[in-house]
Amino acid sequence: MKKRIVVLGGGPCGLSAAWELCKQSEFDVTVIEKDSKPGGLCVTNERNGYRFDLGGHRFISKNQELVDDVCAMMGDQLLTSVRKSVILMGGKQYEYPLSAKNILSNMSLSTNFMAFAHYMIKLCSNKLGGSPDDSFEDWVVNRFGKTLYDIFFGPYTEKLWGVTPKEISSDWASQRISLLNLSDVVFRLLGLKGGTPRTYAQKYFYPKKGIGQMFDMMSDVILSNNGSVLYNAAVKRINTEGKDVKSVSFDVDGKLETIDCDYVISTIPLTDLIRSYNNDESAALKKHTDSLKFRGVRFMNIMVDRPDISQNTWMYVSEKKYLMTRIQEPKRRSSFSAPEGKTSVMLEIPCDVDDNVWKAADKDVFNQCVGALDGLGVKIRDNVIDYFSTYVTHGYPVYSLDYDFHRKRLIDYAHGFNNIVTCGRQGTFRYIFMDIAMEMGINSARRLINSQTMEKDERDKICDWRSEKQLVEVKSVTA
Ligand SMILES: Cc1cc2nc3c(=O)[nH]c(=O)nc-3n(C[C@H](O)[C@H](O)[C@H](O)COP(=O)(O)OP(=O)(O)OC[C@H]3O[C@@H](n4cnc5c(N)ncnc54)[C@H](O)[C@@H]3O)c2cc1C
Repeated sequence: MKKRIVVLGGGPCGLSAAWELCKQSEFDVTVIEKDSKPGGLCVTNERNGYRFDLGGHRFISKNQELVDDVCAMMGDQLLTSVRKSVILMGGKQYEYPLSAKNILSNMSLSTNFMAFAHYMIKLCSNKLGGSPDDSFEDWVVNRFGKTLYDIFFGPYTEKLWGVTPKEISSDWASQRISLLNLSDVVFRLLGLKGGTPRTYAQKYFYPKKGIGQMFDMMSDVILSNNGSVLYNAAVKRINTEGKDVKSVSFDVDGKLETIDCDYVISTIPLTDLIRSYNNDESAALKKHTDSLKFRGVRFMNIMVDRPDISQNTWMYVSEKKYLMTRIQEPKRRSSFSAPEGKTSVMLEIPCDVDDNVWKAADKDVFNQCVGALDGLGVKIRDNVIDYFSTYVTHGYPVYSLDYDFHRKRLIDYAHGFNNIVTCGRQGTFRYIFMDIAMEMGINSARRLINSQTMEKDERDKICDWRSEKQLVEVKSVTA
């Protein structure tokens, strides 16, 4: 009898688990995906010859084996691209990550003075014990001072999460900010320190036809190795007996179907997974499930009748008056993202599901966006061919100050059953990149291949894979 493995969710994590398991003949693998295509957040939508990701993605990893496997799978469909990012603010362009040279030359003398003075005050108070890095704001102010926090870090973070950075955990800062502190920035300016800041990745991999191509190809491999991927199938219930999961029920076209399983690899949102247990114990965890929120994102995708707009991969927009946090030109990742001689722009607009921005008519959001682009010096108004919005409900797990307490409680419950592991970005409620989600899926699969089952502590370790407070950016492309 083959072991029946059911994978919940067909994003990078779930598909990577199935990809690995399907290399072995002793498993009967079924992926249950609620969307109509593979990839999860790494889907690419195509319209009239234009391709838009859900927020421009790139593939980087410090795991050479994973990089090699992806390269082998994709062959000549994988491009190597170079990243160039800027921050647009107050009519000026700043390099990203921030450089001292840029700050000095772009900001007024008085702002430079204030930035330096605030930093020195913070440095002295840090020497005397200082304040702990509890929130995102604490973390940044402790390292850069209040002036730079107020100008660069605070407004962007507030726009992204929709709450004050005082309520965001410092965990997010330590993994996302590529600069160590203001002294580091200044030493670089004075030439007393070389190299790019920390391990900032400039080169990255990107498929010719958008990031979704990687997962289209991965699902083809799964199918050709006798695995199954069910689309438009939404997980509704985890059916248990004692401490074992016996089967999973899912909705297809309004009909509830059930699949038996020996093991479950879940990558659906942790909160939804717990609710799917649908018993008294899981209902008692309501205070924890209700405490973990996801931030949604609306993308305004604009097709433009012009060959190019800029050389930037990402343009960060921190000012509150503009809806978007980032502007991207998909052609910078792959020239196949737009028909010949044309280009496109994609704006990332963080919002909450069903708030005013989420629900606003396309035309209204488009008009606001084009007005904002005008204000930022990106003039495309006269060249727009068409536009449309795409949405994600689970864009970012919101790192509130106590998120880790709640997520651990929920993971503990899920892993209290013997034959289920929860992993991936939504499944662990962690702000991780696709490579780490893929590693989690592959690690889960390998454990099953090696020993057919997993102890609880092994499963807990998969949830915390690469959770060190280190920058998530890595240099992965040497080509
Ligand atoms: C704007 C943005 C930009 C990003 N840029 C990058 C980047 O440049 N590089 C990078 O490496 N990463 C990037 N990421 C992160 C990357 O998208 C994620 O790390 C990756 O998609 C996580 O994979 P996953 O499989 O864990 O989760 P997901 O991709 O979220 O997949 C989960 C899957 O589960 C399915 N699902 C959910 N509920 C159910 C249910 N009830 N039943 C069945 N199926 C269900 C979903 O439809 C989805 O397909 C970005 C993310 C965002 C939001």
